[in-house]
Amino acid sequence: MGGFKLGKMTLRSLFSKPATVQYPAEQVPARSYEAMRGHVINDLDVCILCGMCQRACPVGAIVVDRKAGDWIINPYECVQCARCVHECPKKCLSMGADPTPVTAKLGTVTMHKDMPAKPARPAAKAAEAKAAAVGAGAAAKPKPKLTPEQEARVAAARAKKEAAKKAAEAEAGQEG
Ligand code: SF4
Ligand code: SF4
Repeated sequence: MGGFKLGKMTLRSLFSKPATVQYPAEQVPARSYEAMRGHVINDLDVCILCGMCQRACPVGAIVVDRKAGDWIINPYECVQCARCVHECPKKCLSMGADPTPVTAKLGTVTMHKDMPAKPARPAAKAAEAKAAAVGAGAAAKPKPKLTPEQEARVAAARAKKEAAKKAAEAEAGQEG
């Protein structure tokens, strides 16, 4: 740049309005552009609180608490990478053009929706049904009638068990 041109610029800036502001006392509204990634927007009506965005976020700016029905974002930790937007299976996330407002007090944004209770797992349901069927079957089934030989075998086994029990008791008495 020639010396003449530089001198002209210096003189002009001496008499024109400053290009900067005395931040934070003086602030100008932030400019946004159509394709700008300003902040994350969640269409909560479509969101199923699956937690994919939380797992995808590289800086941990999103927390999903399905039980409580909360979707929480810390816009001041978010680096506007849009990874959550790409990973969301319901496509309910998008990038809004406006930047997050300037603040001296950092905080999170919580969105809440009531989620329906999870249906019982199929395995648990099957186990329940089986238990019910076994219970019903046990109540309905009559005891099978034993043949005289089977009855004799059961009586012999019972007598043997009783004798073993008595012998054990006698042994214990002698030791004591
Ligand atoms: S990934 Fe999408 S649907 Fe899942 S919790 Fe995040 S915003 Fe909701
Ligand atoms: S835009 Fe990037 S940094 Fe911001 S919440 Fe989504 S994944 Fe996290």
